[in-house]
Amino acid sequence: MNLFLLGLPGAGKGTQATRIAETYGIPHISTGDMFRAAMKNGTPLGKEAKSYMDAGNLVPDEVTNGIVRERLSETDAQNGFLLDGYPRTLNQANALKEALSSSGRSLDAVLYIKVNKDILMERLTGRFICATCGATYHKLFNPPKVEGTCDVCGGHDFYQREDDKPETVEKRIDVNEAQTEELAAYYEETGIVKEINGEQDPDSVFEDIRNILK
Ligand code: ADP
Ligand code: AMP
Repeated sequence: MNLFLLGLPGAGKGTQATRIAETYGIPHISTGDMFRAAMKNGTPLGKEAKSYMDAGNLVPDEVTNGIVRERLSETDAQNGFLLDGYPRTLNQANALKEALSSSGRSLDAVLYIKVNKDILMERLTGRFICATCGATYHKLFNPPKVEGTCDVCGGHDFYQREDDKPETVEKRIDVNEAQTEELAAYYEETGIVKEINGEQDPDSVFEDIRNILK
């Protein structure tokens, strides 16, 4: 299954992606995670991405298209993949189409997780992440079962993303809003968009996704 998770920042893409990737045995490909890993390792890609990410802007298409094209050519992506946070612009959608069709592939479904804008702000500013395994939590909506201990790996170290500070969050939502609508319309024409109500609890959202993918 070749899947793309569409939704504004905070819609719950990462949360659902972990479950989908595990259940269906396909790699979770998140451009945001790839940029953050590059930043952490201090690579030239990371240095370039940092200035855009810290300001809540998109990394230029040429850079982003290049890393995704390369990632999709890797062995583990040949029998299915789950894209999260890419494409984000029409240019990227066209580049993706080209990259996939050059290897005889195409997207099977676009899972569009819809959440009202006012809820996103609350979700993003309360998000925190396990420094050891990357599991995502929320201080009110999705806290670890035991306070201060990661449910997945037992780690005790957590951090807040630099771009989840209130001053950047609003900008990120604004930057992504029009483009997300545009992308939904673009894929709507191909008849592969499945809308999901992302305002339910994470288990119910996943249940809807499973029913769609059946
Ligand atoms: P995205 O990857 O789309 O930016 P995340 O999956 O990281 O979004 O979720 C953003 C925040 O909202 C996280 O703190 C997460 O724990 C929380 N969250 C995710 N899904 C839900 C949900 N269905 N209900 C409430 N909070 C959620
Ligand atoms: P995310 O983890 O998806 O919330 O992305 C975090 C940040 O990484 C975004 O605000 C952008 O700066 C950058 N980014 C992630 N994916 C893309 C993309 N497809 N195109 C451009 N920038 C991206």
